[in-house]
Amino acid sequence: MPASSSTLSLEDLMRLMDEVPVMLACFDAATHRCLYANVHYARLGGLAPEQAVGRTAEEIIGQEATERIRPAVERVLAERTTVTYSRSIDTDGQRRWIEVSLVPWGAPQPERLFVMITDITKHRAAELASKQSSDRLAKFMAASVEGIAFHVGGVITDVNPPLLRLLGYDNDQMTGRRTIDFVPPSEHARVRQVMSSGAELSYESLALHRDGHAIPVEYIVRDMDWAGQRQRMIVVRDLTESRAAQDRIRFLAVHDALTGLPNRVHLDEHLCEMIDMSGPERTPFAVLFLDLDQLKRVNDSLGHASGDEVLIAVAEKLSAFCAARSPLDREAWLARHGGDEFVMTYRAADHAQLVDFVDSVRRVFETPTQVGTRSFRVTASIGVAIYPEDGETPSQLLKNADAAMYLAKTAGRDAARYFDRAIARAADHALMIEEALGPAIEKGEFELYFQPELSADGKRLVCVEALLRWNRGDLGVLTPDEFIPVAESLHQIVPLGQWVLDSAMTQLARWRANGWHDARVAVNLSSNQFRSPDFVDSVLAALQRHGLTGASLELELTERMLMGNDPAMQLALTRLRDAGITLAIDDFGTGFSSLSRLRTLPVETLKIDQSFVRELPASASSVAIVNTIIELAHGLAMTAVAEGVETTEQRQCLESLGCRVMQGFLFARPMPAAEFDRWLQTLLGR
Ligand code: C2E
Ligand code: CA
Ligand code: CA
Repeated sequence: MPASSSTLSLEDLMRLMDEVPVMLACFDAATHRCLYANVHYARLGGLAPEQAVGRTAEEIIGQEATERIRPAVERVLAERTTVTYSRSIDTDGQRRWIEVSLVPWGAPQPERLFVMITDITKHRAAELASKQSSDRLAKFMAASVEGIAFHVGGVITDVNPPLLRLLGYDNDQMTGRRTIDFVPPSEHARVRQVMSSGAELSYESLALHRDGHAIPVEYIVRDMDWAGQRQRMIVVRDLTESRAAQDRIRFLAVHDALTGLPNRVHLDEHLCEMIDMSGPERTPFAVLFLDLDQLKRVNDSLGHASGDEVLIAVAEKLSAFCAARSPLDREAWLARHGGDEFVMTYRAADHAQLVDFVDSVRRVFETPTQVGTRSFRVTASIGVAIYPEDGETPSQLLKNADAAMYLAKTAGRDAARYFDRAIARAADHALMIEEALGPAIEKGEFELYFQPELSADGKRLVCVEALLRWNRGDLGVLTPDEFIPVAESLHQIVPLGQWVLDSAMTQLARWRANGWHDARVAVNLSSNQFRSPDFVDSVLAALQRHGLTGASLELELTERMLMGNDPAMQLALTRLRDAGITLAIDDFGTGFSSLSRLRTLPVETLKIDQSFVRELPASASSVAIVNTIIELAHGLAMTAVAEGVETTEQRQCLESLGCRVMQGFLFARPMPAAEFDRWLQTLLGR
C-alpha cells in the first residue's frame, strides 16, 4: 500500500494511458506485432486492448490504413527519427483530422515503434476559421470604397488602397507610421482625445493629404480584437463631394437658377441683416425695386427663351454695376425678386448721394442690351423706399418700393419714383378696389347709366351710350376711371365687360319692346376684353339671347386698341361689321391713328375727344383740330360725334364746323335707366 501511494505502479500507468485522449500503441519493429495498445487505439479496430496485443497493425486498423502508414514507418526505421504527419479520416460519415506521430525506440537499431494519434479536428477548424476571417477582412478592405486603416496604440498596422489613394501615399509610407501624422495639426487635439477615450464613435474632421491640403472626412472608429491584439479600426469617409453637394444645395436654395443672383429668400435674409446693421441709431438705407418695362413684349414677340436671355444680360449688367460701386465702401447689393423684377439695396451717406446712385442705376439701362445678334433698349421703372421712414420690416420696405415702382410705371416707364405717403394711400385705395371688385358683380353693385347722343338741334336721338357705375354703398358711386384699370390688371375685365354687354342689351330689348323700335346702344370696350379670344362669339351670342340685331349695337374702341396689324384683330373687326354692328373710335384725336390705316378699318363713327371740345371756340388750334376730324370723318363716309358738349357756344361752333351728332351735359348727363326713361318722355313730348 505505501508503495502504491508513493510510486506509480504499471497498472496505474496503464489506466492513465487509457485516460489520455490520444490513441497509443507500441509495435515490435521486426514482427510488426502489437506489444501494447490503449483503449482508444484498440477501438480503431473494434477491439479491447488485450485483444489487440499480438496482432499485426494490418489486423487492427485494416489493410488500407496500414498501406498509408507504411512509407512513414519505413522512414522512421531507416532514419531512426520521429515522423509526424496529419491527415483526414472519415469515420461514421464524418471527416476528422488526426495527427500521427511515429517514434522509434531502441538503439542502435530501433526495436520498437510507438504510435501516437491525436484528434486535431477542433484545432483545424479553429485554424481554418481564423484564416478565413483574415482573408475575408483583407478582401473587404481592398474592395471597400471607403478608406480603412487599423492601428494598435496609434501606430498604423494596415491601410487599404482607397485610403492610400485618398491621402496620396504608398502602403510602406503609411504602415508603421503614427495615425496622427495624417491629420492636420488643427485637428490633433480632437483626434487624440477620441483615441485616448477608446470610444467607438464617428465624427467629422480633417485628413491631411500628402501634398499638404486638408480633406474633409468622417472618421468612424471601432474596436476589434484580432490576432490576439486589441486593434482600432478607422473608416475614413471622404466628404469632399457631399460637402460640395451640400454647398450647391444651399447655393441653389438662396439663388435664382436663371441669373445666379440671390433670390427672394436670400433677399429677405439680406434685408434683415441690413436692418440689424442699422443698429439702434437706425441708419437709413434704400431699397430699389426695379421692374423691366419691355420684358413682356420681348416674351410675346420673340419667345420666352429670348426673354430669359434679356434677363440674364440685364442681371449681368447690374451685377457689374454693383461690383464697380462696391470699392466705394457703400455696398450696393442685387437680387432677383422674380419675373422681370430686381431689387437693390444701397446705404447712402445722404439723400444727395442716394439720388446720384439711383441716377446711375438708370444710366445702366441707357446702353442697349445685347441678346445674340440683336440689341434691345430695355428700360426699367424704379421705385425707392428708405429704411426706416418708408418701412421698418423687409416686407413693408419691399411693398412700398414696389408701390413707388408702380407709380414710375404709370408715369410713362423708364423713370424712378420715391415712395411717399400719398402713394401709399393711392396703393391702399387700389388694394381696396382689388378686394371689393371680385364679388361686386354677384352683389349687384354695378349699374349702367345712359347718356344720349343727339342731333345738333337736340331733337333727334341717334344712340345711347352705356356708362358703367359701381355703387359702393356708404362709399358712394365710383366712376369707371377709378376701377376699370384695376379690373383690367386683375383680368376681371372680361366678366365685367360681359356683364355690361348683357345689361345694355337687356335695357335695349326693353326699350324696343316698349315701342322704341330704332333704339341703339353704344358700349365701351377695354383693350383686354376686346383682345380676349372669344370676345366676338360672346357678343354675337348675347345679341341672339336678347333677340336683337347687330345694327342696334355700337362698340366704342380707342385708337390705341386698334393699333398694330394683328390678323386676329382684323378678323374680329370684320366679323363684327358683318354682323351689322357699328364700330366707333372713342376719344379720337388723342391717339395716333395712321390715316391710311383708318381707311382700312370697318369703322363708322369718330368720337371727337372732350379735350378739344372743351376749348371751343376760344382755342384756334382746337378749332382747327375739330374741323380736321369732322372733315376726315365725312371724307371717309363716317359720322363725327362731339363728346363733352357743355355750352351753347360749343354747340354752335361745332354745328358751324359741320358736326351733326353731339353728346354732353348741355343735352343730358348720364342717367340711371329709370331717369333716362323720364328724360326720354319729355324729349318725345317736346
Ligand atoms: P368715355 O367713353 O369718353 O365716356 C364719356 C365720359 O365723359 C363719361 O365719363 C361721361 O360721364 C363724361 N361726360 C359726358 N358728357 C360730359 C360733359 O358734357 N362734360 C364732361 N366733363 N364729361 C362728360 P364716365 O362715365 O366717368 O366714364 C369714363 C370713361 O370710362 C369712359 O370715357 C369710358 O372710356 C370708360 N367706361 C365707361 N363705361 C365703361 C364700360 O362699361 N366698360 C369700359 N371698358 N369702359 C367704360
Ligand atoms: Ca365712350
Ligand atoms: Ca370719350
